[in-house]
This record gives sequence, structure tokens and C-alpha cells, in this order.
Amino acid sequence: MAGARAAGLGQRPAAAQHRTNASNAMSAQPSASACIFCRIVSGDIPGQCVYEDDQVAAFEDIAPQAPVHLLVVPRRHVDSVDALADDPGLLGRVMAAAVAAARARNLAESGYRLVTNHGRDGAQSVAHLHVHVLGGRQLRGQLG
Ligand code: 5GP
Ligand code: ZN
Repeated sequence: MAGARAAGLGQRPAAAQHRTNASNAMSAQPSASACIFCRIVSGDIPGQCVYEDDQVAAFEDIAPQAPVHLLVVPRRHVDSVDALADDPGLLGRVMAAAVAAARARNLAESGYRLVTNHGRDGAQSVAHLHVHVLGGRQLRGQLG
């Protein structure tokens, strides 16, 4: 957990995942109450966050694509990375937390991938900024 602590992240126990239909989760401007990731970070769906601080939280992806697949999100609702041009500080916090989460899962030596998608062509399916932290096996090279 050294990496997570370095980024000021506290650890909370993981719990059973709440299932939702990700294909229905994308909307133009979801209200906080309708946004599944807002509901997770607010605790409305309890027990999801594995790391959190005052601005950022992380939880397990409900449909993991690798042995480690975390989602790191800002606590406040931001549609995607494209909306953070005016807030590089928060973007830095999200990325630093993603690195800390990867280190906390012992991925620093073996390697990992950080991915964030924006909009239709980027195949974003949940309209709350999230950085995927993927690792734990050799990932394939194709990105697009
Ligand atoms: P995107 O395609 O937007 O980059 O990634 C969205 C991710 O959110 C997907 O990997 C999907 O599995 C995950 N996801 C969708 N709904 C939920 C949910 O309710 N809980 C969790 N933990 N992950 C979710
Ligand atoms: Zn949200």
C-alpha cells in the first residue's frame, strides 16, 4: 500500500459489486443521482471503493478485462477527460491516484496500462471520467 499512501489514498475494504447495464449508462449530462459512478463514490451504493481521498476514489471494474482492473474517478461529476482542460490539478490527482493504485496492486515492476475514453468514437460507455488501471497479465498491443 506504499504507493497508495504516497498519493494520500486511504484503503477501504472491497465488497460485492453492484451490477448495472453499462450500455445504458452513457447520457449527455447525467444528474449526480442518475450517474452510476457518482452513486458509487457517494456511498449510495455502499462498499465499492477500494481507495479514496477527498477528491478521488477507485473501485473494481464490474466486468474486469484483466486480473487487475480498477477504475479511478474524481469524486465530483466530470463527464470525461475532455471536460478537465480547465482543471489540470484534478486531472493530475486522478492520474497520480491511478499510478498509486497500480503500485498498490504490485504492478510497477510487471507493468500496467492506464486508459481513459472520451465520447462516442472513444467508446466511452459511462459518462463520468474514469481512468482504467489494467494489469496482472501481458496486455495486447492493439489500442484502437
Ligand atoms: P468505458 O467504456 O466508459 O471506458 O468504461 C466503463 C467501464 O465501467 C467498463 O469497463 C464497465 O465494465 C464499467 N462499469 C459499468 N457499470 C459499472 C458499475 O455499475 N460498477 C462498476 N464497478 N463498473 C461498472
Ligand atoms: Zn457522475
